[in-house]
Amino acid sequence: MQGLMMKTQLMISSILRHAERNFPTREIVSVTADNPRHRYTYKDFAKRTRQLANALESMGVEFGDRIGTLAWNDYRHLELYYGISGTGMVCHMINPKLFPEQVNYIINHAEDKILFVDVLVMPLVESLQSHLKSVEKIVVLTDKDHMPQTTLDNVICYEDLLAQFDDNYQWPEFDENSAAGMCYTSGTTGNPKGVVYSHRSTILHAYAGSLPDTTNASCKSVTMPIVPMFHVNAWGIPYAGVMVGSKLVMPGPKMADGETLQSLIENEGVTLSSGVPTIWMALLEYLDKTGKKVPTLSAVTSGGAACPRGIIERFKNDYQTEVKQGWGMTEMSPLGTVFTLSPGMENLTDEEDTELRLKQGKSVFGVEMKIVDEENNELPWDGVAFGALKVKGPWIATGYYGMSQTPGDADCPVDTDGWMNTGDVATIDPQGYLQITDRTKDVIKSGGEWISSIDIENAAASHPQIAEAAAIGRYHPKWTERPLLVVVLAENAELSRDDVIEYLKDRMHKWSLPEDVVFAKELPHTATGKLNKLALRDTFKDYEFPSK
Ligand code: AMP
Repeated sequence: MQGLMMKTQLMISSILRHAERNFPTREIVSVTADNPRHRYTYKDFAKRTRQLANALESMGVEFGDRIGTLAWNDYRHLELYYGISGTGMVCHMINPKLFPEQVNYIINHAEDKILFVDVLVMPLVESLQSHLKSVEKIVVLTDKDHMPQTTLDNVICYEDLLAQFDDNYQWPEFDENSAAGMCYTSGTTGNPKGVVYSHRSTILHAYAGSLPDTTNASCKSVTMPIVPMFHVNAWGIPYAGVMVGSKLVMPGPKMADGETLQSLIENEGVTLSSGVPTIWMALLEYLDKTGKKVPTLSAVTSGGAACPRGIIERFKNDYQTEVKQGWGMTEMSPLGTVFTLSPGMENLTDEEDTELRLKQGKSVFGVEMKIVDEENNELPWDGVAFGALKVKGPWIATGYYGMSQTPGDADCPVDTDGWMNTGDVATIDPQGYLQITDRTKDVIKSGGEWISSIDIENAAASHPQIAEAAAIGRYHPKWTERPLLVVVLAENAELSRDDVIEYLKDRMHKWSLPEDVVFAKELPHTATGKLNKLALRDTFKDYEFPSK
């Protein structure tokens, strides 16, 4: 027997229609290269997106064609998210911070037909122009007055383009499993791989992303996604935030600028925000330096990399802002887990509360998790056993664009058991709290035991005089590998190797203590703000531990 319910297709355009009807006067505030504070309403947003849909259809592109965007978090990028997917084309967000040869590879691999490019990214696109094989037109995201001089052919001004079209447009309904968006992984090895999101996966992810125990975003929230729209859908906030009618505050190219972030939070009344730990460090540093506050900011979600204890404590103690850690991946749209306090945990001590927040949280409904040993046997959720983390669910990739979709194949992320191997190593405790202990390839394998590099880094980063720390495995004649800790000291700090080891002694097993500590001015990061351990291992490839 079948259920007797309508088979309405889950379409991204339906979010826009709903928002325009129900929240017409809600504001979207953006920082752009041509306007430090652009503001308009959801009604304006919906109208301009229909104009964009007409413009796209006039440009000779077809259903399923990939349209590239190289842009920051602002209203024009938001129009592209909805306009491109809504017309049945694929919104291919491209990270302009990747190496130019990676950007070149990604555009050619996806065969993007049109590129929508922020003014500030034009020099990058100009440098690639002779290599871009599929691109027919380039639209610059600005108005006539701010159009840059360019050596590129077939360049169109976005505002001029929109002005040519009216807003009479009916959003089409088609198969909800059609591709809607695309994002290439920014892995440190091999070529980037294309993850393809569908309308259905995006809508289900948006529902999950706004649940009370996820972000609790609603029409009363003022949400500022600092996580970029050029990487994994800005964690889905451009969909979830619009779905529930939040006021959106978009920091544009000023994502890492503490002064702009603080001013947006204070002046626009931002209540929720999300970003990677490096962004929070930049904001906290600015607040500490200036004495300014973020009184409306009730919660921030930190993800993309392990959140250092200092960020959780400083936000809580100095600014009364709750830090919720989340974990996910490009292949997971990206939402996997988010921190929430379980019932019965209301009376935790400050220390217990912080310890729990250092874990990556609990899975949101829609994501199933398991941890397995090297023979793929499932391990218990006891908070001790750690193994390879596998996931499955309706917003998790079955394969990469143009690569094998057959589970078990080397270039398919899904194993023969139908679960996707995340490449992370984790424990899960009896309450369901996930703790990422490492990337599979970063685990330090010492004398047959696994040592978590993240545990060492977290312990080191809790020292007030340590700004950042990274642990890598280096060759050891007796134990095969031992941990080497690379430390960046805070300003004016003076610590010796022995001081650091002494500090760590109280915080970890003797076996996991770094074999040696070296100091560096800075650590290498990837374009998405993660520690680049591959580069670090390369820097220390000839390093030898001192003989004792
Ligand atoms: P990406 O696909 O570039 O977003 O990277 C996903 C990877 O980032 C995950 O597989 C994890 O290794 C790492 N990651 C994401 N969030 C966290 C977190 N909260 N703590 C530790 N690692 C994280």
